[in-house]
Amino acid sequence: MSSLVKTALCAAALQAALALAAEPQTSTAAAAQQITRAGSQPSAAGPADYFTGQARVDPVWPADKNINASGGLVTFEPGARSAWHTHPAGQRLVVVSGVGLTQEWGKPIQEIRPGDVVWCPPGVKHWHGAASTTAMTHLAVTGTVDGKNVTWMEKVADEQYNAR
Ligand code: MN
Repeated sequence: MSSLVKTALCAAALQAALALAAEPQTSTAAAAQQITRAGSQPSAAGPADYFTGQARVDPVWPADKNINASGGLVTFEPGARSAWHTHPAGQRLVVVSGVGLTQEWGKPIQEIRPGDVVWCPPGVKHWHGAASTTAMTHLAVTGTVDGKNVTWMEKVADEQYNAR
């Protein structure tokens, strides 16, 4: 074997060894895939202090050190909506089914439908809920700051909800 080929093989072997050595750094040591089984997290009613009408919250995942945002499915019966609120790190809403409404303070109510993705920037006062005659479910992905992801405010009055 020529010394050139030997050098090339050596370099290739070294690269392979480095790649192997680097591998544990790309995935956390001792981490394993984890499946949270459907039905293992109980549904909860949206608290009356923060929701008008019937809302159901199904937790999907909690915020953790890897992804600092929680996921939750929220289902609003017709006419149901959140109170006005803000999120310290913002929130994304992915409409899964039905027809919904959302509004930013001082702006018109907007209708949202399945597949629509709403970005609520940090600190922007808003609400979201179902249309008056149709239920709506959205996935809410909400960032966390110091363990907190929402600041609740006053409820959305009927006059505000019906103003469109
Ligand atoms: Mn929100």
